[in-house]
Amino acid sequence: MGLTTLTQGHLKLLELCPRRFQYSYLDQLATPTEPAMLARQQWGTRFHLVMQQRELGLAVAPLLAHDPALESAVQALLTTAPDLFAPAIEPGATALDASAVAGVPFRQSEHRRNLTFNGYGLTVIYDLLIITPTQGQIVDWKTYLHPPSQRQLTKDWQTRLYLYVLAETTDLAPEQLSMSYWFVQPQLSSPSEAQPLAQPSQILLPYSAAQHRRTERDLRQLTDKLTTLRATFQDFPKVEESQGHCLRCPFAVRCQRASERYENLGLSDLPPIEEIAEVSL
Ligand code: SF4
Repeated sequence: MGLTTLTQGHLKLLELCPRRFQYSYLDQLATPTEPAMLARQQWGTRFHLVMQQRELGLAVAPLLAHDPALESAVQALLTTAPDLFAPAIEPGATALDASAVAGVPFRQSEHRRNLTFNGYGLTVIYDLLIITPTQGQIVDWKTYLHPPSQRQLTKDWQTRLYLYVLAETTDLAPEQLSMSYWFVQPQLSSPSEAQPLAQPSQILLPYSAAQHRRTERDLRQLTDKLTTLRATFQDFPKVEESQGHCLRCPFAVRCQRASERYENLGLSDLPPIEEIAEVSL
């Protein structure tokens, strides 16, 4: 149980169900990924790679050459949000080189920050960070079909941790910070079967000193809880079944919570096995 670095994913799972956190991160139990989910993840990874290469001023044509759907999605984002993208950087120059020029904001993709907090290292990686003397903006690309609501995103640990760490590691006040999510529709089918491409959409979340204080309080509670649980050397507690999280959990069988799934599907009403007629093969 040597975990000392925490990301937004750790915080999310710890809050959702401590036992699931234990299985995933401390016991490192593997879980199968559905093929459709895997395809979406791989598409998202390729999209992020293109955006990073582009930000660095590197050629993206080779990445897009055999993937017209990916090219359309990238182009749709560039067309919808032209202000978000830096003027072309000289080939070979990095975004950091460019920001050294007076008057050009600091901007960097895949920007990592670390913060020591209550015995843990909090780590964030921003898809794109743009900082001027008066503003800090975190940009995150999401390749989802259905964006969550603004309320859900505000409560999400990604939003909370990303803004908290930025406020703690710059001289900017919370009110000068914001986080914007851009939702891009993944195109997973072949071009002939592709869905019409929906326009990318944005959800912009402001930040405040009050939110910063709440996040600090909740972070302290959550990290204190983790420290206490680790000190017991026992299995972490399971979430209450009534919360419904076990329904979609890959550890449901291990936790003996799998029956909940079948009950939910109405399968608990199956007749006893001896009453089911034999099917001839
Ligand atoms: S099945 Fe339920 S209790 Fe078990 S790890 Fe998953 S969410 Fe937690």
